[in-house]
Amino acid sequence: MLTIEDPKEMQNWSSEVRENKKTISFVPTMGALHEGHLSLLRKGRELADKLVLSIFVNPIQFGLNEDLQKYPRDLEGDLQKAKNCGVDVVFLPKREIIYPPGFQTYVDVEELSKGLCGGRRSGHFRGVATVVLKLFNLVSPHFALFGEKDYQQLKVIQKMVEDFDLPIQIIPIPIFREPDGLAMSSRNQYLSEKEREIALLLQKSLKTTQNLVKQGEKNIATLLEKTRSSLEFKTEIKVDYIELCDPETLKPLEKLKLPALLAIACFVGKTRLIDNCILTGK
Ligand code: AMP
Repeated sequence: MLTIEDPKEMQNWSSEVRENKKTISFVPTMGALHEGHLSLLRKGRELADKLVLSIFVNPIQFGLNEDLQKYPRDLEGDLQKAKNCGVDVVFLPKREIIYPPGFQTYVDVEELSKGLCGGRRSGHFRGVATVVLKLFNLVSPHFALFGEKDYQQLKVIQKMVEDFDLPIQIIPIPIFREPDGLAMSSRNQYLSEKEREIALLLQKSLKTTQNLVKQGEKNIATLLEKTRSSLEFKTEIKVDYIELCDPETLKPLEKLKLPALLAIACFVGKTRLIDNCILTGK
């Protein structure tokens, strides 16, 4: 397994792979790898001849009051996990190389970035789309894998690829959960034992609402209220948003139309967690 820091070296490696008619899968991450990330790597390994993982904590997708400084980092552990998943290259660009002085070009996927997390984390998806486009240009993958855990991010990237005619196939990967249902996240490390227990309510509330829909409940206000009450009966949870949206446009639904995206963001203590599911009638 190679580690590459230099963008030119990354581009040269990819050019050579492509000249040899081999394919490349790419998994961009911010590190502190867990089984969720590894599920993307395993699928990437299956799809292509070569597998590239990037680890870059992207400063421009963090807001001023967010956790950029204390975002979990574990390079040694990450390299070991990457090796076990058959990664060929770990790309570790430095911040000042990705954003040199004078950097001034950004990607704004306008409509899809407006609601949900985009409405609360100003500039977040602009930061995500910008770094992902840069990484795509450096890695030149055939396939890029993104988790449905960050559903809005997945849609933003799919749209950018479509709008800019990028020759890359985006592969969505289902949410990987702990055995007790908690969606895996690097930020779960921030949770105390008690908070982790409480965080289980995120998936439970999604399931409760899915069951109501299966039983025939169609009223959006009722469904949102039930989701909220199954979270907020614990005072340690502060709901940031609960929304029922069209799964493609991410616009809030006025009338229930299935399949629908039910997306939630909550603070459990100081930690912001997200989860979602696609509601279906069956
Ligand atoms: P991050 O390091 O948080 O930026 O995540 C890197 C990639 O891993 C993104 O495409 C995420 O959606 C994906 N990912 C993170 N957690 C999970 C999970 N629990 N299940 C599936 N994919 C995930």
